[in-house]
Amino acid sequence: MSGKKAFLEGRIKVPYKWYAGETGSRFLSALRDGCELWGTRCPGCGRVYVPAAKNCWECFRPADEWVQVSDTGTVESFTIARRPDEMFGLAPPVVYGLIRLGGAGGSLLHIIGGVNPDDVRVGMQVKAVYAEKRSGRILDIKYFAPLGE
Ligand SMILES: [Zn+2]
Repeated sequence: MSGKKAFLEGRIKVPYKWYAGETGSRFLSALRDGCELWGTRCPGCGRVYVPAAKNCWECFRPADEWVQVSDTGTVESFTIARRPDEMFGLAPPVVYGLIRLGGAGGSLLHIIGGVNPDDVRVGMQVKAVYAEKRSGRILDIKYFAPLGE
C-alpha cells in the first residue's frame, strides 16, 4: 500500500440567517421600504455613520441620532475584480468602490455599475440605483451609477 495522501475536493454551501440588530434593521428597512439611506450621528464628535452604526468607532458613545443622507456621492477609491464573485453571484468584471455619500462621515463599500469599468475614476459622482425587488439587504441598492448617465 502506498503512503501517498489522497484528498477529496468538494464545495459546501452553508445557508445562514441572522438578525441584523436594532440599528441594522432600521437602516435596512428604510432602504427596502422607501429607498432611503439613513445614518446615525455621534453626539460626541458629530461623525455620521452609513450604514448606521450603534456606537461611534471614534469616541465609543452611542450614535443614536438618525439622519437621512443623500443617495448620491463621490467615488473615493475603487478596484476592479475580474474573477467571479462567489458571494453574490456577480459576473466579472465587478467594480467595488468606496463611496462617500453626501452627509456621511465615511465611505460605503458598494458596487459601481452602469459604466464601463475602465471609465470609473476617483472623484466621479455616482447615484444609487435601487433593485426593483428589495428584500432588506445592502444589495437593495443594485449599484451606484455615474450621475447624469
Ligand atoms: Zn464620536
